[in-house]
Amino acid sequence: MSGAAVPSFDPTRPCRLCPRACNAVRGQEAGFCGAGAAVRVALAQLHPGEEPFLSGPQPGPGGSGAIFFSGCALRCVYCQNHEISFGLPGPDVSGQALPGHDCSVDDLTALMLELQLCGAHNINLVTAAHYTPQVRAALIQARANGLRLPVVWNTSAYETVDALLSLEGLVDIYLPDLRYMDARAAARYSAAPDYPRIATHAILEMQRQVGALVIDEATGLATRGLAVRLLLLPGDAGRVDLALAWIADTLGTETAVSLMGQYYPAHRAAHHPEINRGVTRAEYAAARRTLEELGFWRGCVQEVGSSADWTPDFRQK
Ligand code: SF4
Repeated sequence: MSGAAVPSFDPTRPCRLCPRACNAVRGQEAGFCGAGAAVRVALAQLHPGEEPFLSGPQPGPGGSGAIFFSGCALRCVYCQNHEISFGLPGPDVSGQALPGHDCSVDDLTALMLELQLCGAHNINLVTAAHYTPQVRAALIQARANGLRLPVVWNTSAYETVDALLSLEGLVDIYLPDLRYMDARAAARYSAAPDYPRIATHAILEMQRQVGALVIDEATGLATRGLAVRLLLLPGDAGRVDLALAWIADTLGTETAVSLMGQYYPAHRAAHHPEINRGVTRAEYAAARRTLEELGFWRGCVQEVGSSADWTPDFRQK
């Protein structure tokens, strides 16, 4: 594990855990991310709908052992998991009530071990960045108590390099989004004009820690490495073309890329007419063409509008 300073969480002090640095005293109020003092888990289950290198062939046994954390520091206006990331209107101090259950470090440890017992192929931590110190403690405890599965950090990539350094040696597979390379789009849809800079720095650190994606030939499952998710927005508002160019130039075309065509207008997308529609087949085909022209050869593509059908390895080398 890294010798870097471990970000701490103290509910009595202003929180600066993520790039929002919103200074919420989470013991008294919810942060921008919606989180209070306790780790809140919305759902834990064997998930068949992740990329095949995480969920395994479907229908089939197992699945990715997903733990969905409530709240999110990015909070996109079109969020398709908005019930989990924003919560429902409620009486708490933030005006939102995140769904799920409060979990201690021991509870989280037990959840991970239970998913392993149920046949999960990996432990898939979905949007956990605003709980990094507690999740880190649970991972250390779970490893000491027999967790053998690869651990996946499934993230918006809107997180600090310091927080990621604290996960070195504990996370095996990083699965970041790269949502925007256009600062105006990041500001408009996620109130995060710094997203392109923050996310690219974060992804560089992830690659430094785990390298390229490694897949076990016998099982088809990932055991280690980095895979970058690109969610195509209508009109390519987030600039997947620039994201692919950046990945090719900076990380290399051996980087596994997952090009996602599942966008549909959700949550507050109706307030933004230009993204208040699905992605067209022509838009998706253009993104896929860019990906192939740049020479990427590892990853997955999806049918437009699909949420669960993946085609692995779009071009075998
Ligand atoms: S983790 Fe949440 S509370 Fe802490 S700085 Fe980020 S948004 Fe604010």
